[in-house]
Amino acid sequence: MNNLSSLDGNGLGTECITENAYNGYIGPLSENKCIVGNNVKASVVTVSGEKTKTIVPTRKKSFRKTYLLILVPSFLIVCGILSLALVFITTRNCASSSKRQVCLTEECVRTAASLLSAMDHSVDPCKNFFQYACGTWNKKHLIPEDRSSISTFEVMADQLQLILKEVLEKPINLEDNDATRKAKIFYSSCIDIYQIRKSGDALLRKVLRSLGGWPVASHNWIPPESGLEVLLGKIRGIYNEAILIEQWVGPDDKNSSANIIQIDQLQLALPSRDYYLKPVSRGDLDAYHTYMTNIAVVLGSNQSTAADELRDVLDLEIALANASLPEADRHDTSEIYKKLKVGELQLLVPQIDWLKYLNSFLGTTITSEEPIVVYGLSYFVELGKILENTNTRTIHNYIFWRFVMSLSSHMIGDYQKERVEFRKILQGVQSERHRWSQCVDWTNKKLGLAVGALFVRDNFNHESKETALVMIHTIREAFNELLSHNDWMDDETRAVAKEKANAMNERIGYPKIITNKMKLIEEYASLNITKHNFMQNILNVLKFDADQNLSKLRQPVDKDKWSTEPAVVNAFYNPNKNDIVFPAGILQPLFYSQHFPKSLNYGGIGVVIGHEITHGFDDKGRQFDKDGNMMQWWNNATIKAFRERTQCIIDQYSRYKIDEIGLYIDGRMTQGENIADNGGLKQSFRAYRKWVSQHGEEPDLPGMNLTHNQLFFLNYAQIWCGSMRPEDALTKIRSSVHSPGPIRVLGPLSNSKDFAEAYNCPLGSPMNPTNKCSVW
Ligand SMILES: [Zn+2]
Repeated sequence: MNNLSSLDGNGLGTECITENAYNGYIGPLSENKCIVGNNVKASVVTVSGEKTKTIVPTRKKSFRKTYLLILVPSFLIVCGILSLALVFITTRNCASSSKRQVCLTEECVRTAASLLSAMDHSVDPCKNFFQYACGTWNKKHLIPEDRSSISTFEVMADQLQLILKEVLEKPINLEDNDATRKAKIFYSSCIDIYQIRKSGDALLRKVLRSLGGWPVASHNWIPPESGLEVLLGKIRGIYNEAILIEQWVGPDDKNSSANIIQIDQLQLALPSRDYYLKPVSRGDLDAYHTYMTNIAVVLGSNQSTAADELRDVLDLEIALANASLPEADRHDTSEIYKKLKVGELQLLVPQIDWLKYLNSFLGTTITSEEPIVVYGLSYFVELGKILENTNTRTIHNYIFWRFVMSLSSHMIGDYQKERVEFRKILQGVQSERHRWSQCVDWTNKKLGLAVGALFVRDNFNHESKETALVMIHTIREAFNELLSHNDWMDDETRAVAKEKANAMNERIGYPKIITNKMKLIEEYASLNITKHNFMQNILNVLKFDADQNLSKLRQPVDKDKWSTEPAVVNAFYNPNKNDIVFPAGILQPLFYSQHFPKSLNYGGIGVVIGHEITHGFDDKGRQFDKDGNMMQWWNNATIKAFRERTQCIIDQYSRYKIDEIGLYIDGRMTQGENIADNGGLKQSFRAYRKWVSQHGEEPDLPGMNLTHNQLFFLNYAQIWCGSMRPEDALTKIRSSVHSPGPIRVLGPLSNSKDFAEAYNCPLGSPMNPTNKCSVW
C-alpha cells in the first residue's frame, strides 16, 4: 500500500516468501507487508499441545564473536570430513559400506559439513523436526544486540549486504553510468557522519515550518488557512507520506490493465492495532508516548506541555486503531474492495473534502466523477466522525508527529538516542545497526534498480537463471498433476485453474532494464542526488517516488515492470499481474547452488517456487483470474470445498503456541502463507522425484547417512533455522502474515506423507499425525 515500497504501490497485492530480515526500523511499518520482519525464534513451541523445549540463546557476545562461534566449529567439521574423505579416496573405497555412490567433491564435502553443523542429532526427527534440523544452529547463533531476531534468512541477507557494501564503496569508475553513480553518491552521503552531524536537523525544521509547523513545538501556532486536506495532500505529494489515509495509484483489482486512485486505512505507527487496544501492551504505549514527547522536546517543546498534548495524540491514534480493521479480517479482498466515484465517497464521508485533498497533489484535475477504489470503507466513515470530534490542534499534532517520526528515522544525534530507547522496549534491541548497514539497505530500497545493476555485474551466475526456469516448469507441471488428482474441485474450475497456472509470468534474477544503460539512466533522470547532503537526498528520493507513483494515473499499467529490486533475499507473487518473481538475491545458497545436489535445490528454491505458484490459488490469490482481474471463476460448491480444506489449515496452525509469550498463532491471518508453504513443499518434492526418475538417484553426501529424499526435507527445514526475542515474537504473532520459522517447518512437514515416508515416522508420532490437512 505504500509507494515507497518495492511492491508497485499496491500492498494489497504482492505476496512474498518472507518478510524482511531486518526490522531495524520502527514505526510506520508501512514499507509494505513483505518487509516487516518475520524470522524466528522458537523459545518453547507447543505442537498440538505437546511441549518441545528449544534453547533460548542469550545475547552477550558481539556480532563478530557470533560469527567466530559459527566459523570455528564449521571449520573443524569441514576438516574432519575432508580427512574422512581423503581416507575414502586413498583406500578407493568410496562406497564400500553400501552399494550407493558417495560424492566426494569439495562442494559435496562442504555442503555436508554445513548441513551437519546445524543439526541436533540427539533429537528424534519424528518428534520435532525443527529441533533435529536446527538445534545446533540455534545454539550457536546468538541474537546480536542490534537485532530482535537471528535466522538463516538474516545471515543470507547479511552476506548480500556485505557484497552490496563493497560494490557501493567501490570508487566511481568508467563502468559506472549516471544511475549507478547516483546510487554510489547517495550511499556515500549516508555514511558521511561528519557532514550529517554538521547539518543537524536544520532541514527537518525548515520542512516543518514550510508546512505550518508542529503545533506542540511551535510558538503561537494557528491552523493553516488552506485546511487539513491541503496539508495531507502536500505531505503525500511532496514527501510521499500517507498519514491518516493510505493513498496510491495502482492497477484496479477488477481491471488489471487500468491504473486507478486507491485509498486504504492508515498504517499505524506501532506494528498492529493490538498494541493500542490490548491492556497488556500499556508499557509499549507508554514508551511510545515518551518517545514522541522527547522528540517534541528536541524540536523545542516544553516537556510538560508536550506530555499533555501528546497524550491527546495517543488517544486519537487509539481511536484510529479502533476504527481500523484487524489484518485477519482483511484477507478477503473482494469483501473490502469498493469502487466508487469521488462524489459518492463525499456523501459517505462528508467530513473530508475529497476533491480538495486529491487535487492538492495529483497532477491532473479530479472531478466528482473520478473513480476511486476504497479498501475498508468503514474505516473512512469512522475517520470522518473522529476528525469531527477531535480538536484541530490535536489532529495537526498527530499528523506532524507521524511525519517527524518518519523523516527522523534517517537522522542521528538526539533523534537516534530517543529512537534506540523506544526500540529497547518495543523490540528488545539494545542498539542500532551499523550505519553502513542501514545505508546499504536504504540505498537498495530507494535506488533498487541501480544497486541491482551494480550487484549483478559480478555477483550473479547467469546459468542459475536457466536452471531456475527449468525448475519453474517442472514444479508447475507438478502443480498441474496434483490439480488433476484433487478430488474436491469440479472439472470446469480445474481447467481454468490449470490455465491460470500456465499463464503465470516468470521473472527471474533481474529486469532487462538494468543491463540497458540508457534506459537505466532515463529511469532516474529526474532524481537529483548531491554529495554531502544526505537529508536533502532523502527528500529528493521521497519526491521522486511520489511522482513515479502518482504519474501512473491516466497511464496504462506497465505489466513488464518489476515489483521488487533485484538484490533482495525474497520472492513474490503479484495477483494483479499473475507473475512470480525470484530476484537475483534469492538464487544463492541455501536456496540454490549449481554445486548442490538437486535434492537440496528442490528443497530450497524449488519449494519457494511452489510457494509462489500456490499463492495464485490461496484464499486471496484464487479470487484473481489469469489476467490479474478479481472475479469469481470458481463455482460455489468448489468454493465451499476449498473453505473446508482451508479451515483444516486454520485450525491446525491456531493450535501452535509460542509458549514464551503465551500466545497462539493467528491461523486466519497466516492462512494464505500456510497454504502456500504446504502446497510448495508437496509440488517441489513431486518435481524432484520426477527429476530422479529421469536422471537416476544422485550420489550420497559424505558422512551424512541420509537419503536424498531426507536431504530434501532437511534443507527445507534449515532455511527456517533461527530464534527471536520475546518482544519480536509478540510483534510477529500480532502483525505477520507469515508463521514463525519453527511453525513453517512443523506445519507443512507434519501434513506431508512424503516426509513421514522419507523419515519412517510412525503414524501417530508428532511429525506424522493421523489427521493431515491438504489444500493443493
Ligand atoms: Zn508467501
